[in-house]
Amino acid sequence: MNIEAKLGLNVFKIDDQTHIVIDHEVCQRACRLRSCLTVCPAHLYTLDPQGRIQADFEGCLECGTCLIACREGALKWIYPRAGHGVQYRFG
Ligand code: SF4
Ligand code: SF4
Repeated sequence: MNIEAKLGLNVFKIDDQTHIVIDHEVCQRACRLRSCLTVCPAHLYTLDPQGRIQADFEGCLECGTCLIACREGALKWIYPRAGHGVQYRFG
């Protein structure tokens, strides 16, 4: 079984509020690398038509990589509320 198949077994209990908040002003002012677009293993960061960063929190694997990679401090990231988020099924 490859990694994609294993990840496909995960279950998500989706909250009705995001646990990832982006300070777009910081993104526009201070960030050239936009590392969030490349480091997220679930590819949750995208650009909207206006060129602003968006995060699709519902598929978050809760690895914390984006928080570490965003050296500009534009992200406010917390774990999803109790009972929500990813449930790993294969380690
Ligand atoms: S890495 Fe941080 S500052 Fe840069 S675009 Fe992503 S969220 Fe914004
Ligand atoms: S915590 Fe991991 S999976 Fe979730 S948005 Fe950040 S990099 Fe992506």
